[in-house]
Amino acid sequence: MSKLVTIAAVQMVAEADLIKSTLEEHGLEVYLADDNLIAMDWLLSNAVGGVKVQVAAKDAEAAREIVEQIQKRKPNDAPPVVFDCQDCGQRLEFPGLRRGGVETCPRCGSYVDVPE
Ligand SMILES: [Zn+2]
Repeated sequence: MSKLVTIAAVQMVAEADLIKSTLEEHGLEVYLADDNLIAMDWLLSNAVGGVKVQVAAKDAEAAREIVEQIQKRKPNDAPPVVFDCQDCGQRLEFPGLRRGGVETCPRCGSYVDVPE
């Protein structure tokens, strides 16, 4: 087995999972370190330096480039989508990455189509 190098360390397990699945789509083998520990107690994340995303040394350069692309388009940067529920008229707000998806209205429980 080739040597693993850490190409990113992130605070949230969800973010590490996103990076992992994206890298896997590019055909890279990805390992997470300390993710189980942090999933149990995310306060530990700071203490251990976050979830480490690791790849084989030969893939490190490609992986770093992909991670850079992911971090450039963080979902948090997308402006939120605001619209009214078609059933109860409640003003709803969802994160930008939910665009074009289906969500549940927290007030009346109806499914709502999030506009593009
Ligand atoms: Zn509603």
